[in-house]
Amino acid sequence: MRLILLGPPGAGKGTQAKQLARNLDLAHISTGDILRENVARGSDLGKQAKDFMNKGELVPDELVNQMLIERLKEPDTKKGFILDGYPRNLNQAKALDEILKSMMMQIDLVIDLDSSEAVIIQRLSGRLVCRRCLANFHKTNMPSKKDGICDNCGGQLYQRQDDKRETIKNRLLVYRQEVSDLMNYYRQNAKLKRICADEDVEVVLNKIIDLVKNYSDASPDSKRWG
Ligand code: AMP
Repeated sequence: MRLILLGPPGAGKGTQAKQLARNLDLAHISTGDILRENVARGSDLGKQAKDFMNKGELVPDELVNQMLIERLKEPDTKKGFILDGYPRNLNQAKALDEILKSMMMQIDLVIDLDSSEAVIIQRLSGRLVCRRCLANFHKTNMPSKKDGICDNCGGQLYQRQDDKRETIKNRLLVYRQEVSDLMNYYRQNAKLKRICADEDVEVVLNKIIDLVKNYSDASPDSKRWG
């Protein structure tokens, strides 16, 4: 199974992708996480991406596409994968098809996590991330047991620079500018499914799992779960 999770920042793509990856034994590929690791390490890629990210702008396609190619070469992607945060525009969607074609692969399902603006802003402005294991928490929806400390690994929790209110607005603007072309692209090849992602994590997760199972049942000849 090769799955894309689409949706605005704050729709819960990262949270859902992590849980799905565990449930379905798939690799989780978050371009945002890979970029943040590069920024933290001070790599060349990180240096080039940092300003775009802090402003809530998209990192140039060439950089992100190349980064994805490298990630897809890693052996864990053989069992299938979930893309979280990629593609972000039509250009990336087309590049992805070319990249996968050259690797004799294709996307099975694209799920759009539809979310209302009020929920997005509430989720993003309260989100806290672990510096060490990248787990997500929320100041009120999902607080850690000990203030500022990750329940999973004891790492320090921080608020992402781009989760500050002013930057959230810009990220939503960038999303809206790009999204219709992207959705049309996937709607044309009938891979797109939409669900409302405003509900609790478990409810949304079960809806996604249902979609994946329905898809697998309808296409029993292909290797859907691995
Ligand atoms: P995310 O963690 O997916 O919200 O991404 C955080 C930031 O990383 C975005 O606001 C962009 O600056 C950058 N980013 C992540 N994925 C992409 C992508 N596919 N294309 C361009 N920029 C990206």
